[in-house]
Amino acid sequence: MAKKDLEVEKHVLDPEHRKLSKEEKTEIMKKGVYQNIFKKEFTGKYMIPKTEIRFSFIYNKSFNPSFSSQDFIKLKKDSYPFINLFKNYVQEILELIASNNKPWEREYIPVYIVFGKINSFSDPLTLSYKEDHKLLLLILIHELIHNNLTKKYKDTIELHKEIDRIYQKVLISLNLQNFEEAKKKYNKEHRGF
Ligand SMILES: [Zn+2]
Repeated sequence: MAKKDLEVEKHVLDPEHRKLSKEEKTEIMKKGVYQNIFKKEFTGKYMIPKTEIRFSFIYNKSFNPSFSSQDFIKLKKDSYPFINLFKNYVQEILELIASNNKPWEREYIPVYIVFGKINSFSDPLTLSYKEDHKLLLLILIHELIHNNLTKKYKDTIELHKEIDRIYQKVLISLNLQNFEEAKKKYNKEHRGF
């Protein structure tokens, strides 16, 4: 990459979101790879996908045939505190993933919460409900990182090494209070130590 290109890239990913000059914007616009950032009116920030927590009865039922309407009410009620946690942190998480990896290409990422003995996965982003909402937030970060990666990886080990690299950087910048226990659990379940 030419020195000038590197400079442009640095500006786009500038965590301070400083305002770019007209010349700088034109320069970046020429580079197709960053076009997604400018689809909407340029505000000085790169594009951050819209996210929201979604609940679907049918979706739950597809994983867990005995899932009842009472279970559905309970799942939604139990998830309230997690939704608050999500609202507090998701914007910063999305920005940190972009600045530590690459600009987002997806404009909308719905986050489904389901209840049952299944693992969380990234597409459609589905979180398997856990009583430990802090752990659930860490798993959300993991699954969101999956959604920011577009390269092909040799295998899932190589892919998860890359996820772990970005996850660590996001966590360093994110000011999570009293997450020590959740982090330990995450490390045990998702990082193999
Ligand atoms: Zn994964």
